[in-house]
Amino acid sequence: DDAVRLESLTKTYGSGTGAVSALREVDLSFPRGSFTAVMGPSGSGKSTLLQCAAGLDRPTSGRVFIDGTDIGGLNETRLTEFRRESTGFVFQAFNLLPSLTAAQNVGLPLRLAGRKPGRKTVLRALAQVGLEDQAGKRPSQLSGGQQQRVAVARALVTRPAVLFADEPTGALDITTGRELLEVLRKLVGSPVMGGQAADDPELVEPTTIVMVTHDPNVASYADRVVFLADGALVGELTTPTAEAVA
Ligand code: ADP
Ligand code: ADP
Repeated sequence: DDAVRLESLTKTYGSGTGAVSALREVDLSFPRGSFTAVMGPSGSGKSTLLQCAAGLDRPTSGRVFIDGTDIGGLNETRLTEFRRESTGFVFQAFNLLPSLTAAQNVGLPLRLAGRKPGRKTVLRALAQVGLEDQAGKRPSQLSGGQQQRVAVARALVTRPAVLFADEPTGALDITTGRELLEVLRKLVGSPVMGGQAADDPELVEPTTIVMVTHDPNVASYADRVVFLADGALVGELTTPTAEAVA
C-alpha cells in the first residue's frame, strides 16, 4: 500500500535540440510509513521529481498516484484542493507568516481548505514537533530550528498522505538540523495527529516522508535512499549510514 507511486515518470523541458530530459521513465514507490531520501548531483532531477510527485508540476508523460488517486486526471482546481488535503510541503526557507503566531501559522492550511482550525487540532500538530508550549509565539521570537518545526507542524495539520521536504535542514546549523531530522524520524511510523484521527484509532495512518537532500549525513536519517543521475534512478540503499551514502 503506497502513499505515493510514480510510474514511468518523464519530464522534458523545452523541445527540439534545446530539450532537457529532467526525468527519464522513473518508477518509484513510497510505502505508507516510510522515510525516503532522494539524492543525486545538482541537475540530476531531484527537484523536478519532488515537484511532479507533489502535484506542483505536471510530468511530460507517466503517472503520479497519491493516496491511490491518479493526480493526472484532476483539473487545476481539483488538483489544488487535493494537494491541500493530501500533501504537506516543507522548504529550505521556513516561509512562516511573520505577523501570525505559531498556532495561527499551523492553522493556515485548514483555513485554506475552508475548515476552522480547532485549537486541539493545532496544539496536537505543534505537540508532534515538541512545540506545544510555544503556540503563542511569533516567528521572530523562535529560533530557526523552532521555526522549521512549526513549518513541519503546519505541513502535517491536514493529516496528509505524504510530507515532501526539499532540503529541510538547508538553512539550519548542524545541531539544529539534527534536531529537526530527529523530529522527522519520530514522525515516521507514528500516526499523523493533526485531525480527528487522534480520537479515532480507525482513522490513524502513519506519516510518510519524501525528502530531497544532497547531504549524506541528512540522508542517513531516512530508512531508504534513492539515487538519481541525469534524470534516471541509478541506485537504492535501505537503512543507510552516512558512510555508505557518501
Ligand atoms: P536537481 O534538483 O537535482 O538539481 P532539477 O530537477 O532542478 O535537478 O533539474 C534537472 C534538469 O532539468 C537540469 O538540467 C535543470 O537545468 C533542468 N530544469 C529544471 N527546471 C527547469 C525549467 N523550469 N526549465 C528548463 N530546464 C529546467
Ligand atoms: P536546485 O538545484 O536546488 O533544484 P536550482 O537553482 O537548480 O535549484 O533551480 C531553482 C529553480 O529554477 C527550480 O524551480 C528549477 O525548476 C528552476 N530551474 C532550474 N534549472 C533551470 C533552467 N535551466 N531553466 C529554467 N529554470 C530552471
